[in-house]
Amino acid sequence: MQLAPLSWYLENARELPWRKTREPYPIWVSEVMLQQTRVETVIDYYRRFLDSFPSVTSLASAKIDRVLKVWEGLGYYRRAHNLHKAAGILMLRGGQFPRSAAEWSELPGIGKYTAAAIASRTMGEAVAVLDGNVKRVIARFDGVEIPINTAAAEKALWARAEELLDRESPGDHNQAMMELGATVCTPRNPDCSRCPLAKGCIALKTERINFIPAKSPRKPLPLRRSIALFIRRTSDDSLLIVRRPDNGFLAGLWEFPQVDVKNNESEAEALERLLLELLGTRQIKAEIACSAHHTYTHFHLEVSGYRANQSPLLEKYLKLRFKIRSSDTAKKPEASLGNLPLDWYSPAKENPHALHGAHQKLLVSLQKHEIL
Ligand code: SF4
Repeated sequence: MQLAPLSWYLENARELPWRKTREPYPIWVSEVMLQQTRVETVIDYYRRFLDSFPSVTSLASAKIDRVLKVWEGLGYYRRAHNLHKAAGILMLRGGQFPRSAAEWSELPGIGKYTAAAIASRTMGEAVAVLDGNVKRVIARFDGVEIPINTAAAEKALWARAEELLDRESPGDHNQAMMELGATVCTPRNPDCSRCPLAKGCIALKTERINFIPAKSPRKPLPLRRSIALFIRRTSDDSLLIVRRPDNGFLAGLWEFPQVDVKNNESEAEALERLLLELLGTRQIKAEIACSAHHTYTHFHLEVSGYRANQSPLLEKYLKLRFKIRSSDTAKKPEASLGNLPLDWYSPAKENPHALHGAHQKLLVSLQKHEIL
């Protein structure tokens, strides 16, 4: 099997920007971006990221807010935090990149797969990769019946990936296996007529390509609900936003003031709670304006967007609470929500702050309905 995918790859590989280099920095950035994300989505982000942070030095010295802004929309923001943190660690070591997969895997955000992908491509280290695409190719080629999302299958597939590795050209071999899974041995309707492995493929021979790989059913994700509040500054139609804490879920990203809707609580009750927390009053009226659905790794989120009615009372409470007037264009809110900084977000302009995905969707929905 070793040579077939490699020669196929050399003739059929897609031209991707990160394939034009063997330098560790751009390859590292691309591999981190490609975790959980499709190639087509990554290309523009990759270019923008390298334009903004062309070297590990520039990444390490950038503010995390700037890194999150460039990453905005790519999702899984923990990856951006880890890249930034790892760049800082590398600079403390004199800017030297790791010299093996084992050393790469000591950096934050780099697991076994990513470490092997980087080390095999940048240094030719003979280590195999196993991502979703490679798992599917090997499972079909070998006719593996057990569900591939089990620990036993994972272990067996890693061992098989190592066994199949072309030790002369591990970097290209790994790329070849991933490319094959991404473009030919696709989850549905694999194009076996174009596949360099067709001759030896057990799934094809036994007519089981639609049944392999099998997966154990996953538990359905729980549903959470939240509400967000739009408070508009009349002078420039910008909206009040708050920065999430530096640690934890969606760390350092910005959002419209929001609260989760508790079990057995109505949205109206949650809204009252939010108004009390934010403005110190229940008296402000707000109406439902839009909604959005967003799926995270471990839950689905339904978020409802409420728009606070413009009124002298709202102006009064904003002034009282934040020492601002909603018509004041020059000043930032001089206060915070708890310890969290506040600012204004203008949907019509370039903003320095990165909004997280659910609230980006909310904003799109708001704009679509021309409610601003
Ligand atoms: S022959 Fe078909 S099922 Fe088998 S590895 Fe190739 S594309 Fe996948």
